[in-house]
Amino acid sequence: MKSFHTFFLSMFGAVLLLVASAQAQEAPAEPVSVALPNVMDVRVSATPERARLVIDLAGRTEFALVSLAEPNRLAIDVRAATFSVPEPSGKPSGEGMVSDYLVEQAAPDRVRTTLTLSGAAQVQQAYMLEAFEDQPARLVVDIIPATPEEFAANVARDLAASGTAAPPVAASSTPAGGSELPIATRPLVVIDPGHGGIDSGAETPGGIKEKDIVLAFALRLQELLVASGRFDVALTREDDTFLRLEERVALARTNKADIFISIHADSFQQPEIRGASVYTRDENATDVLDKVLADSENKTDIIAGFAMPQMAPEVVDILLDLMRREMRHQSFTLAQAIVHQLEPSVELRRFPVRQADFFVLQAPDVPSVLVELGFLSNADDMANLMQGDWQDRTADALARGISTYFDSITPEE
Ligand code: ZN
Repeated sequence: MKSFHTFFLSMFGAVLLLVASAQAQEAPAEPVSVALPNVMDVRVSATPERARLVIDLAGRTEFALVSLAEPNRLAIDVRAATFSVPEPSGKPSGEGMVSDYLVEQAAPDRVRTTLTLSGAAQVQQAYMLEAFEDQPARLVVDIIPATPEEFAANVARDLAASGTAAPPVAASSTPAGGSELPIATRPLVVIDPGHGGIDSGAETPGGIKEKDIVLAFALRLQELLVASGRFDVALTREDDTFLRLEERVALARTNKADIFISIHADSFQQPEIRGASVYTRDENATDVLDKVLADSENKTDIIAGFAMPQMAPEVVDILLDLMRREMRHQSFTLAQAIVHQLEPSVELRRFPVRQADFFVLQAPDVPSVLVELGFLSNADDMANLMQGDWQDRTADALARGISTYFDSITPEE
């Protein structure tokens, strides 16, 4: 597999070079622009257990995180020329770890957001997302409680690192309390909680909605994966908003995600069908029931009144095909790794690794799987899905499956 991969990459590189040189002959080279982006919006939300800062930017840029004492604060610097934030100071939505925030131009090339903390806190993860579709680039910073000792250590470390004027600006994320460690690039896992907003997904007669169950589960899984210290984890949606299928795929692709996992808990007309299963994409779905399931998922976009987007241009068809074959293989490996970990502790469907034509799994360059946690149309599954213990067990098994997948693809030293 490794040699195929190498072959594939070099083939791909060669063709890209051909395309690039063809383009270079057509148009004169444009001067390289080094303009710094504008900070467009800042949003802060807080609970007693965690807080999140999202900074919308006109483009990707570098950032740095600094802990400050008296009062306890966390400053987030982004390399930016200006800011045009609707509310440059205020209170977060929700109450908890952050009491207020302030955005200011700290230097000509630096916009600083300062969060006043209501206690000791630390950054759990921070990552920059590329702009895609009509969404701007974003810096996401997740904050969790720390001990006073941990906070004091971070303050001392950042003070020592800053030395003179501006604090160091890192291009990558700084894990909680550990910026003295070499910053390694961690694999990016994109979790996609299905449905959202006007699209509720499956729904029980009692009013339990798939969109809520899968969002809660995705947040749980994100926490487990982040806590392992091995991954950066982005969600396609973090609240009850509607996203087109194309947008979900685009978020994973533009950020060069290492894997994409869509989470669902759908309904079948046959209430006896139950158990978890993991799907990879196949345009020729293997099973009539799988086809029905995929068709109803793909309807999401039609429900919201959007047309299905066009596929990639014909010129890249051969490349895409080659890439898809490789991604299909990796997606299948990922699905198997997840099922293997689910098996001992979670009720599975017969033949739990399945293929269906899910549009959301179409990225040709990101291994993608869709996990059906169970079926809302089955009473036993529904009881499980509502139960915290079952959710924990299942999220834990999924996280282990993801880890073993990365173990299996990491080349041995
Ligand atoms: Zn669904």
